[in-house]
Amino acid sequence: MSGSHPAAAPHAPVAIHWFRRDLRLADNPALTAAARHGRVLPVVIDDPDRPDEHAPGAAYAWWRHHSLAALDKALGGHLRVLRGDVARLLPALAARHGATLVTWSRAAEPWIAKRDEAIAAALQAEGIAVRTENGSLLWEPWELAGPGGGCCRVFSAFHRRCRALAPPPRPPLPAPELAVLPRAPDEPRLPDRAEAAWERKLARHWTIGEEAAQARLRRFVAEKLRGYAKGRDYPSRAHGSRLSPHLAHGEISPHVIWHAVADAAPAADVAAFRAELVWREFAHHLLFHFPRMADEPLRPAFRTFAWRQDPDLLAAWQRGRTGIPLVDAGMRELWETGFMHNRVRMVAASFLVKNLLIDWRAGESWFRDCLVDFSFAANAFNWQWVADCGTDAAPYFRIFNPVTQARKFDPDGAYIRRFVPELAKLPARWIGSPWMAPGTVREAAGLRPARDYPAPIVDLAESRARALEAYRTGKGAP
Ligand SMILES: Cc1cc2nc3c(=O)[nH]c(=O)nc-3n(C[C@H](O)[C@H](O)[C@H](O)COP(=O)(O)OP(=O)(O)OC[C@H]3O[C@@H](n4cnc5c(N)ncnc54)[C@H](O)[C@@H]3O)c2cc1C
Repeated sequence: MSGSHPAAAPHAPVAIHWFRRDLRLADNPALTAAARHGRVLPVVIDDPDRPDEHAPGAAYAWWRHHSLAALDKALGGHLRVLRGDVARLLPALAARHGATLVTWSRAAEPWIAKRDEAIAAALQAEGIAVRTENGSLLWEPWELAGPGGGCCRVFSAFHRRCRALAPPPRPPLPAPELAVLPRAPDEPRLPDRAEAAWERKLARHWTIGEEAAQARLRRFVAEKLRGYAKGRDYPSRAHGSRLSPHLAHGEISPHVIWHAVADAAPAADVAAFRAELVWREFAHHLLFHFPRMADEPLRPAFRTFAWRQDPDLLAAWQRGRTGIPLVDAGMRELWETGFMHNRVRMVAASFLVKNLLIDWRAGESWFRDCLVDFSFAANAFNWQWVADCGTDAAPYFRIFNPVTQARKFDPDGAYIRRFVPELAKLPARWIGSPWMAPGTVREAAGLRPARDYPAPIVDLAESRARALEAYRTGKGAP
């Protein structure tokens, strides 16, 4: 970390790097700029009075704490953790340590960018230079905007634009040689935090931090990328990279991932995987252009759509007690692990907004609280996609049938068996639709009607017909 590096000299200039959602050392252009300037003072700042609008929820906060602990370790225990008004704290910190530069990674959220402008102005007023870099996207929204400054509204056009017009993602930067300014005893460090029982449960499923992210990427490239294009849809085959929480906290950059998969598997698998990274970009670019994406439907016609208010049905969905096994398995995976497989996210979300006709914002908010990979952009974008009210949306008549989806993508029932153990003894044929199983089969599997596992909370065919009508008229729930 230090040593012969010229920046380690005791009189080398000081740069503050303000860590935000870039909790890593490698391929972090703003941190590298700070390291080139001189000695680096690493800091994170929580501002309880100005939380981001739609602040991430509990599972994300749990992950972030451990990610900060890993980062602090990598920085030799010198990470400062402050709380308060950033526009006041950063200039004060710079004055105390004689810092002449402050660096940070830019965010796509327009309200964060606006706040950043005010913070930069406060620093510059004190004669402190500011340098910000792109630390989280392959391309920033203004690089891909059309002639009028707007964004492509559908993914296929956006993807074409990325391929035709955007420069290829730059090669990743190595971790810089850092001369970290030691933390003085009175400078606050990451506080200890008592873990709740549900947090200890999450911890069994993840290893957090930059090193873990890189190890996960290496394993994915070596073992799962081959076959990704087909395998990614099967929740028990584990072809997904599960890099999303690492990306959401900036423990790894999309550039590192993009380049790591080059030529590492058949072209179709690499292309399918990179397309998912482009979906991530698309969501962030849309958020930049439509800042209200998490609470306003992008298609104005949906502003008057009548959603059903039914707290009991919503609670059954949240707890994985809908009586529809694939939906329940997904919702319980989310509760158990802070994650849900992508295909199952689509099925569970479709069930909420179509079969139950409950407002997609209720689902968005539940996912926000439960997901360790919560991303403001990706969550809002995907919910609008499923609810058909986004710019690029599934056609309204596409209503995922959770029974057919289970047969197709969980054919032996391994995923459902894992997360809905009370159904574990049912044969594969019936596991996605236990209410259809003959009584003798249910008895042999030890299932007592409505006692061990609920009956479906809605009839799938009737609720599908009702959703089709609600969407066809555009009026919503009757
Ligand atoms: C209703 C709903 C809500 C979602 N909420 C989030 C969220 O809050 N945060 C989040 O990161 N993803 C979200 N997704 C997208 C997707 O489900 C996850 O990114 C994916 O499951 C992560 O698993 P993975 O890392 O194994 O993905 P892989 O298949 O390995 O894909 C690689 C990376 O591409 C990105 N990606 C993949 N699919 C999408 C997508 N549809 N949209 C945007 N980026 C994508 C992710 O960063 C992912 O890590 C949501 C999807 C739905 C249907």
